[in-house]
Amino acid sequence: CGVFGVNGVAEAANFVALGLHALQHRGQEAGGIVAFDPDKGFNSAHRFGYVRDNFTKASLMETLPGELAIGHVRYSTAGAKGPAIRDIQPFFGEFAMGGCAIAHNGNITNALALRRELIERGSIFQSGSDSECIIHLMARSIQRNIPERMKDALRRVEGAFSVIAMTRTKLIGVRDPLGVRPLVLGRLGEGAYALASETCALDIIGAEFVREIEPGEMVVISKGKVETSRPFGPSTGRFCIFEHVYFSRPDSIIGGRSVYETRSQIGVELAREAPVEADLVCPVPDSGTPAAIGYARESGIPFGMGIIRNQYMGRTFIEPTEQIRNMGVRLKLNVNRALVRGKRVVLVDDSVVRGTTSRKIKDMILDAGAAEVHFRIASPPTAWPCFYGVDTPDRDKLLAAHMTPDEMREWIGVDSLAFVSLDGLYRAVGEAKGRDARAPQYCDACFSGDYPVAPFDQLERGFRM
Ligand code: 5GP
Ligand code: SF4
Ligand code: MG
Repeated sequence: CGVFGVNGVAEAANFVALGLHALQHRGQEAGGIVAFDPDKGFNSAHRFGYVRDNFTKASLMETLPGELAIGHVRYSTAGAKGPAIRDIQPFFGEFAMGGCAIAHNGNITNALALRRELIERGSIFQSGSDSECIIHLMARSIQRNIPERMKDALRRVEGAFSVIAMTRTKLIGVRDPLGVRPLVLGRLGEGAYALASETCALDIIGAEFVREIEPGEMVVISKGKVETSRPFGPSTGRFCIFEHVYFSRPDSIIGGRSVYETRSQIGVELAREAPVEADLVCPVPDSGTPAAIGYARESGIPFGMGIIRNQYMGRTFIEPTEQIRNMGVRLKLNVNRALVRGKRVVLVDDSVVRGTTSRKIKDMILDAGAAEVHFRIASPPTAWPCFYGVDTPDRDKLLAAHMTPDEMREWIGVDSLAFVSLDGLYRAVGEAKGRDARAPQYCDACFSGDYPVAPFDQLERGFRM
């Protein structure tokens, strides 16, 4: 998911709509905005579909007045049984000291246990979302102000959370102690601040990037001032390495470096680890493109767009049902026959999950007359599900969970298949030595099975690490 908030500007909801539009790649199912105005109070709108189709209409935006607003774009992960309007964030709660809206990116790993406990004690849940726990935990806190209640609530929550919240006067941002999901701070001129999942959302509104919110940090922004605190004690971060590989936008800056640069560096590592004699390096667009550029640069093999993407389709993986996802590949990608005919093609993609995309693309390339297809993947085999907010399927649906790379090569039907190593990936993101096995610097659980937070709900449901 993607979150965005802004404080101290006229028509704040319009800024939020723009910010969410820039974060649309993080969630395409639905979006919501809450705004506060001293005369009109809290107002909200929750809609299915793209931000641009809902939140640019003047009639809707006029219902969201005020200088303080937050928003959320959603794609469903944990526990979701298909889209429901009541699951769309931000969620809102009215407390003795006033209202509060929250927007959450990530996934709470003890949400089922918390929900059970809260329901037993009288909470009335409105949605099926794990994030709603936060509001109910806040309602039960005895603290006298909302930031302190949030701290109380979030100390009980496990897993991944980057949360943006707002009261009548404050904009609040928090990252979980490991900082699994991103969150950044921007400035929009005198006394106006923005919080966003990624820097690309600051660019779109012309805000200056100030810094990343640190793992385990809370910032409270009001009257043009940013106050910081560390509600969870000291911690070292385990940022999601897959944000670098796929999830973030290539024009965003993470850890002081553009995601695009990191991705092309993954391609460089891949070319060093898995060279091959070929005529053309060709990305699976768009997610494989920067890595393919790096592979081509390092190998000296010419780069070409052998597959063309229809720009009017969304990300196929994110469509929730299997059937839509299957159709998606052909609706979205087509082979540039004139370019690939007769060539030995190195096909570069960011990841193999179920393997269905890879198989279809290989068919399309061979149908178009390619002589050979060598598949190169800019991440290690995805053998474990993510429980921290990226929607990987159950373990039994992950190709790498039950096949060796060689069996995968055979099943996909390509001449060769290679994945970048976990060490190579770490080197590409800037860890000179590769992965430090005793103290990994990132979350890499979907590749290693090393879960930095025990997935409590999943273990209770029978998942075995
Ligand atoms: P599959 O192997 O399941 O057919 O699809 C892999 C493709 O899905 C990759 O090209 C990748 O770009 C895309 N993808 C979209 N969303 C996700 C996601 O959340 N996780 C992973 N691993 N890949 C995703
Ligand atoms: Fe990111 Fe993978 Fe960890 Fe999930 S399991 S947070 S996708 S690195
Ligand atoms: Mg892709």
